[in-house]
Amino acid sequence: MVYLSPTNREARFWLKGCPRDNGDLYFDRDMYGPFVSCLQCGYYLTDNQMRVLMSLGTLREQPHAYSPQENGNRN
Ligand SMILES: [Zn+2]
Repeated sequence: MVYLSPTNREARFWLKGCPRDNGDLYFDRDMYGPFVSCLQCGYYLTDNQMRVLMSLGTLREQPHAYSPQENGNRN
């Protein structure tokens, strides 16, 4: 049983986060558990990709250039 929950904030969407076609990913869960899928191509992330996405906020390799957190919604 894998239990995943977005860290830090309630991330539900990752725009242009799909590793296949740069589509928009969304987080949801069904009877099988949580999953992340692409709105455009229907690609389902693997458990491992989900973990990376949840912890880093992106699937792309980040050479520690700058933090991608542009919409700072902290209160
Ligand atoms: Zn896609």
